Amino acid sequence: MSRFWTDKARDMVPYVPGEQPKHPDLVKLNTNEHAVQPSEAVLEALRGVSGDTLRRYPDPDAVALKQCIADNEGLTPNHVFVGNGSDEVIALAWQALLARPCGVTTVDVTYSFYPVWAQLYDTDLRVKPLQDDFSVDVEAMNQSEGTLLLANPNAPTGLALSCAEIEYLLTSNPDRLVVVDEAYQGFGADTVAPLISQHDNLLVTRTLSKTWSLAGLRVGYALGHPDLITAVSRVKDAFNSYPVDAVAQCVALAALQDKDWLQRASTTVINAREQLAESLRAMNFEVLPSVANFIFVQHRLRSGGELFDVLRRQGVIVRRWDQPRIENFLRITVGTETQNQKLLMTLAEFL
Ligand SMILES: *Cc1c(COP(=O)(O)O)cnc(C)c1O
Repeated sequence: MSRFWTDKARDMVPYVPGEQPKHPDLVKLNTNEHAVQPSEAVLEALRGVSGDTLRRYPDPDAVALKQCIADNEGLTPNHVFVGNGSDEVIALAWQALLARPCGVTTVDVTYSFYPVWAQLYDTDLRVKPLQDDFSVDVEAMNQSEGTLLLANPNAPTGLALSCAEIEYLLTSNPDRLVVVDEAYQGFGADTVAPLISQHDNLLVTRTLSKTWSLAGLRVGYALGHPDLITAVSRVKDAFNSYPVDAVAQCVALAALQDKDWLQRASTTVINAREQLAESLRAMNFEVLPSVANFIFVQHRLRSGGELFDVLRRQGVIVRRWDQPRIENFLRITVGTETQNQKLLMTLAEFL
């Protein structure tokens, strides 16, 4: 700390991302990176980036990328915002739409970045408990006030609401904004993107980090009524005209056009997830039913802290939060077959 710090820099509690260890031999199952390598079309697009592309500023409106996303969703480019990862998209949306006096309501076990943004943007954050089975209490959400912010599927639980449940929330109060963070879309959960054309109170955020195996690229997007998108764009243009660089625009476009890769890669992850869940259940773990590329598990006899340490000593990194209700749970990313086997063998030896 120094005397030059603002009150904000001093008082804020920053988000802590999952560790990115430098050691290549570690089995890294802690940040929900995709188990499958990105599409060959992506690598080809990357190799095709010219010096002239890099010499010039990128398209500030990412027109080609927005058009492709709009086509995939049956929307128009006016329904699309793109940014530097969905964390940035949500941060900009927070300033544009969520930082209002009515505040924001979310659930107690969810993405740990939400309280950070609430603090950064001085927003009243109300936290409603999940039910005992970690599902969202839809009626409690419906009775609550302010903007509704839900990760769906939720992280770290992996559980999701149906499209009909979210539509119920949208319909029962059209004057309430509902933001659905679909970071884990594509691994079996419903998406609410098709509801956008009927509901001007819905904003959906997505990322290429998880579903498209491009966490290193930093591209995310939002879908919503053009008036919502305009607000987010206004904040972006007051902050950084070029959040998505020329390389990222070109590579993201190639990724989103490769529908075959998406189909195959998602199926691979879903099958591996179900196998992993079954093996862990056989080892006396409770495994929440996940529709994401991770599972949330707790052992019936051993503590979460103990298992976390055992795995770590053997070079397997998972994620755990020292937080009420979930201190005995581990969040395990679905890895490659080799990684999942190493995890299972390490646990089997210990148990
Ligand atoms: C990973 C994640 C994000 C952010 O992803 P980016 O890499 O910033 O696009 C947003 N929300 C949830 C719930 C996530 O798990």
